[in-house]
Amino acid sequence: MTVSLYNPGEEQKSILVFLEHEGGVLANVSLELLGKGREMADGLHWSLAGLLMGHQVADLAHEAIAYGADEVWLGEHPLLQFFTIEAYAHTAFQAVSDGKPSVFLLGATPNGRDLAGRLAVRLRTGLNADCSGLRIDPDSGVLVSEVSGFGGGVLALIEMRTHRPQMATVRPGVFTPSEMDRNKNGKVIEIPLVLEEDMIQTQVVEREVGSGIDLTRTPVLVAGGRGIEGDFLMLQKLADLLGGDVGATRPPVDEGHIERQRQIGQTGVVCSPEVAICCGISGAFHFVVGIEKANTVIAINSDPEAPIFDYADYCIVGDVHQIIPEIITALRSEGEIAHA
Ligand SMILES: Cc1cc2nc3c(=O)[nH]c(=O)nc-3n(C[C@H](O)[C@H](O)[C@H](O)COP(=O)(O)OP(=O)(O)OC[C@H]3O[C@@H](n4cnc5c(N)ncnc54)[C@H](O)[C@@H]3O)c2cc1C
Repeated sequence: MTVSLYNPGEEQKSILVFLEHEGGVLANVSLELLGKGREMADGLHWSLAGLLMGHQVADLAHEAIAYGADEVWLGEHPLLQFFTIEAYAHTAFQAVSDGKPSVFLLGATPNGRDLAGRLAVRLRTGLNADCSGLRIDPDSGVLVSEVSGFGGGVLALIEMRTHRPQMATVRPGVFTPSEMDRNKNGKVIEIPLVLEEDMIQTQVVEREVGSGIDLTRTPVLVAGGRGIEGDFLMLQKLADLLGGDVGATRPPVDEGHIERQRQIGQTGVVCSPEVAICCGISGAFHFVVGIEKANTVIAINSDPEAPIFDYADYCIVGDVHQIIPEIITALRSEGEIAHA
């Protein structure tokens, strides 16, 4: 069996969270992991640390402390300005080998996944990918990660007993950030870094930041499936009237009707809206995991036997192309009456 760089007896009783950021703002998923990390650390009297890498990002360290971190390990270097796997993995490896956290959590984002895989190999430890739940056993300090498999038919609880750190990636939207507390004190610890340009093979030629679609925070989700036959304009009108945003199942994404960032579900985004309106969606498990945290689910489907109705609080049997325009008309006339 491969031996990890440090073992259970040599670990610190601490949880480390990878702090992702873009444009001077910490990523929601990092705040969510700080929230969950704080909750677990408090239950065990452990400490919570954030791993922040970048260039001129020290301000974000204080923000992470306000969101729950006891300390932030800061890797500051011009070569860390943009994510490159070599520079980030090198810095993270150094930070983790020095700090020896028991648990290391990362967002299951493109960069988080990239970093987690590379680092797990380098640290000779395991990685629980795409977890939907986390807890730490108070007696053994073992992280128990929930991962669904076999099309959702199985919920596996994965433990890593002999290797450290216990690494896991978690998809955005699964946990809730803690309240921000600007008065909270914490330490910023600089990671002593030796980074040279020739250590980095990736060259950033051009950088394009995504459209900023973030469905994890929308209060109203209007989601469309194959049954809406690509008419996302209709759903957008409804979402605009309700102050919400539009999501989709996988088939319309695969067929190119809508951006991939709007896919909800197991291989998409997990949302926790007040209201989710599911239009022309059958209710496959892979989709439903993405809306399980919605307070109220409304489903519109022409098939009265559609499985989505098992999850819905309000079930409307009928044709989406008829029902949604009627709802839009009703909402508009209600708005006009309110303004009159
Ligand atoms: C490993 C894996 C991961 C996956 N990940 C995801 C994921 O993250 N997200 C995801 O969504 N899927 C995912 N899938 C696919 C998933 O299993 C389903 O195939 C998909 O969710 C079905 O999408 P749908 O409900 O839009 O389509 P369908 O299952 O085809 O359902 C269409 C529904 O529309 C209804 N309908 C048709 N016409 C109308 C109408 N005019 N008015 C009202 N209702 C109408 C039909 O009755 C039907 O119930 C994954 C699959 C695999 C194997």
